[in-house]
Amino acid sequence: MLRGIFGALIRYARDNISVKLRPRVNHGALFVRKIFIMKIHEYQGKEILRQFGVPTPRGVACFSVDEAVAAAKQLGGSVWVVKAQIHAGGRGKGGGVKVAKSPEQVREYANQILGMQLVTHQTGPEGQKVRRLLIEEGAQIVKEYYIGMVVDRGTQRVALMASSEGGMDIEEVAAHTPEKIHKVWIDPVKGLTDAESDDVARKIGIPEVALAEARACLQGLYRAFVEKDAMLAEINPLVLTGDNHVRALDAKFNFDSNALYRRPEIVEYRDLDEEDPAEVEASKFDLSYISLDGDIGCLVNGAGLAMATMDIIKLYGGNPANFLDVGGGASKEKVTEAFKLMLKNPKLKAILVNIFGGIMRCDVIAEGVVAAAREVHLSVPLVVRLEGTNVELGKKILAESGLPIISGNDMADAAQKVVAAAKGK
Ligand code: ADP
Ligand code: MG
Repeated sequence: MLRGIFGALIRYARDNISVKLRPRVNHGALFVRKIFIMKIHEYQGKEILRQFGVPTPRGVACFSVDEAVAAAKQLGGSVWVVKAQIHAGGRGKGGGVKVAKSPEQVREYANQILGMQLVTHQTGPEGQKVRRLLIEEGAQIVKEYYIGMVVDRGTQRVALMASSEGGMDIEEVAAHTPEKIHKVWIDPVKGLTDAESDDVARKIGIPEVALAEARACLQGLYRAFVEKDAMLAEINPLVLTGDNHVRALDAKFNFDSNALYRRPEIVEYRDLDEEDPAEVEASKFDLSYISLDGDIGCLVNGAGLAMATMDIIKLYGGNPANFLDVGGGASKEKVTEAFKLMLKNPKLKAILVNIFGGIMRCDVIAEGVVAAAREVHLSVPLVVRLEGTNVELGKKILAESGLPIISGNDMADAAQKVVAAAKGK
């Protein structure tokens, strides 16, 4: 329940409040206590698809150029595809997917792609470093389709979307010709029926000879989606090959972190290299932390207050460097770790601590802040606003600490002070 509300709050913040949360909304996992959305690599997604009877090209995941060449030889054939494995789409357009016609070419492309900073429309301008490759058989593509599934909260069903216009421009299709995307809201009791499956396959133009395989793909994707607690699953492209077979050439899955406790096999797929290091660090200390692109560090207790704090900073012309909720029972250790995390950000110009002491006493928080500020040798201005239980004592502790702490009387005052401090005023 709580986590659900929390998730909704984060989503609300990402979509609505004036703070621009995360320029790279599609990239990396969001941590809320644990992880909020968990992503996996294409080759892992294809492993799942195969378990559910969805045909894919044969492939091998590789971590070095030599492994890539050996994989090509092991797979045999005469055409291979060298594919960058990162937690972002748009790899083809960014130069992360290359067709090779000989083992030498596999070597050449593997050399090029492995270690490159791959920039796609989903990675942000800094790109993502490629550390893994998928070497797979080249498919002879006659036609590319799109199939995908999401949980549709409105209808409380899994929505299947399918289009004849698969491949690398599905975003354009959705934006300009939405009528080319067919939808089915799947009945959770019946599942995706044969009739529904064939109907949608025909609508996207799959020929009659390939309907049975298309059905295996659609129904397999649905079963994988449900049985693995996915939030989103996509095969783009699903292709028709020269010999009339249907194959999944790409695979994308996002999982609901609230269900990971019962999906240890999915947790195994986690790749920390693909996640924001600060967020990974924060999750170890049970801090809810999300990196943002501003310069004012925020240390707050409670998700709602954290969001209100970011919003008011924005209102007074500042930019938050992070979302950080230390939770209800913030100990001195947790506060110290939170300071350390924020200070790792080279852009940080000031910190605002905004605490409402309900169950938590302000004097305890003040002691924690003072101890943490001493331990980390605080190098940026620190504004603290305390309210609630034992607030007078808390303020006294801050004032007598000898540290250059700027006290905020209320939220507006504290926000204005921290924005001014960040601007060097
Ligand atoms: P992304 O979606 O990140 O760009 P894809 O896996 O969809 O990456 O690959 C991009 C394009 O490369 C596909 O649309 C397809 O045309 C081609 N491609 C991918 N895998 C293969 C394969 N095994 N054989 C032939 N072509 C492929
Ligand atoms: Mg794709």
